[in-house]
Amino acid sequence: MKMKKLTAVLCLGVLALGGIRMAHAAVTPEATMPRNKIPKEYLWDLTKIFKSDALWKQGIAEVKASFKEFASLRGKLSDPSKLNRCLDLYFAKHGLANRVTMYANLREDSDTTDALTQAMNTEALALMADFMRETSFIKQEVLEMSDTALAKAYKSKPGLTQYKPYLDELRRRRARLLNPEAERVLSMAGDNLWAEIDLNELPSPLESAFHALLSDIVWPKIKDEKGTEVQLTLSNYPKYRASSDRRVRKEAVESFFKTIHRYEHVFATLLGGQAQFNKFLAQARNYPTAMEAYLDKDNLPVTVYTNLIEAVHANVKPLHRYVALRKKIMKLDQVHLYDLYPPLVAGVKSDIPYEKAVEMIQEALKPLGQEYLDVLAEGMNPKHGWVDVYPNKNKKSGAFSSSCYGVTPYVKMNYFNDFDDVSTLAHEYGHALHSHLTMKAQPPWTSRYTSFIAEIASTVNEILLSDTLIAKAKTPAEKLYLLTERLETLRTTIYRQTLFAEFELLIHAAAEAGTPITADLLGKTYGTLITKYYGPEYVMGPTDSIEWAYIPHLYYKFYVFVYATGLSSAIAIADRLQQGLPGAAEAYLDMLRGGSSKPPLELLKEAGVDLTKPTAVEAAAALFDKTITEIETLFEAK
Ligand SMILES: [Zn+2]
Repeated sequence: MKMKKLTAVLCLGVLALGGIRMAHAAVTPEATMPRNKIPKEYLWDLTKIFKSDALWKQGIAEVKASFKEFASLRGKLSDPSKLNRCLDLYFAKHGLANRVTMYANLREDSDTTDALTQAMNTEALALMADFMRETSFIKQEVLEMSDTALAKAYKSKPGLTQYKPYLDELRRRRARLLNPEAERVLSMAGDNLWAEIDLNELPSPLESAFHALLSDIVWPKIKDEKGTEVQLTLSNYPKYRASSDRRVRKEAVESFFKTIHRYEHVFATLLGGQAQFNKFLAQARNYPTAMEAYLDKDNLPVTVYTNLIEAVHANVKPLHRYVALRKKIMKLDQVHLYDLYPPLVAGVKSDIPYEKAVEMIQEALKPLGQEYLDVLAEGMNPKHGWVDVYPNKNKKSGAFSSSCYGVTPYVKMNYFNDFDDVSTLAHEYGHALHSHLTMKAQPPWTSRYTSFIAEIASTVNEILLSDTLIAKAKTPAEKLYLLTERLETLRTTIYRQTLFAEFELLIHAAAEAGTPITADLLGKTYGTLITKYYGPEYVMGPTDSIEWAYIPHLYYKFYVFVYATGLSSAIAIADRLQQGLPGAAEAYLDMLRGGSSKPPLELLKEAGVDLTKPTAVEAAAALFDKTITEIETLFEAK
């Protein structure tokens, strides 16, 4: 679930807000529906980005035309007037290049087989690459300026002062910069410590080899619930792992792990190699640890990471209770790894039309206040063109929110009227409103936000929705289903991701201590962790400790902890909102409006969550514990 790339966005236009009544047009979602059969009001309106393809082309030409002026400014940025002009030009054309990319991107996403949009997308990506290359000198020259020279520049050219937050962030890690020759060599080696937050990093050759190995492996065949032989694949493995038939899930997990085990030394070499490479890049810039280097990229202190792990350790008892709950409810003699995934109760059938989902979400998000609700009503009404609601033939699967400065945010859905879709819709509108609020409050150069904050904006909405649905559940079965869904989300996001984060930290610590990273070391480390996390009722199988080998998250470079801190923070914020604490909603919206104007931890603190303390994780663990009790009570009443 690595986040969809976020491009900064904001809407400068004045929105017509107010109560909006939606027509209840009946659409039955179907994956094979041709796009032209979907009523136009349910498709996003990309003319807000460019009125026509001809204007889009003109946009490309305009960006390219600016390259000449950039070239004339190169090498001259120590002159304050030239620096000012260069930054004006940069933000104007970067915004335009973003719009060019988003227009082509969203077009291709909704119909992947359209040759014209494929070509447009290729052209847009090439333009962005050219733009980044033509303007890379700005960063170099800004980093080379001394503090005194920059202070003088602000004085002599007051127009520059508006860019101070941007320049400060650019120069924040200036002390880590090496001499030009060393920088050249590091970038040839694939250094990504300087990647901008809106640029997707390319995977390292080790990560690519990891994926290549996974796709080369011939997976075993197993017998499904009906006794039919089926081919296990990476994509159907989670389904069989969660089978209600214990024989099937045991066979799936055991044969999957046994297969991975045959390649354990290759997997260990790849993951160990990645840790060594991260260590090399960090040490090249004189960071004491790889963790510190990667966290510093997002301006986060290492204590956020270590506190999360400590707080989860101190609050691991509810997870032990969860394993015991599974044992009791599923009437198991022993709880194995393969017993952790089957649903505790059957799913409830749902058929929730889009318009109904909108009502449910509006109701649930009331604690966020009227301003939020007004923008939400505007953005969720499909007539306003933010959202592409239904699946269609050749539309890419999944959902996301995407935005670029000066245009309304967009939300892509594949809405199938399912219960999960309502939750996804609330999640994506969390991102969309975050973008909207940031763009309204910030200039382009501080309107990009880190993923650390982004996933809080989406998760707060999911939690508020789930709180409302649980409170309003019509039957005990419905309530039980919702509670078990919540329990799984908390287990897999808080506990499981922290387990991965701790494992990642331990293997980097080993690499930094000069200990060879072998399959044996990785297996022992992982095995110790799962025993500690799952507790006394969990029975470790002979191959369980190989699970680390196929987890792609371990190549994300100190990223997975963000899932756990994000959900914990969101729970703490949702709690403040539900309690109606005075100023809680406004403080939270201020965090959303903050963009990248302040370090992420500071923004979060203003919203009432201090991640240097264990409080947020404690609140999440308490909610997990409370949910277990509620489930137990409902089961006993059955
Ligand atoms: Zn998200």
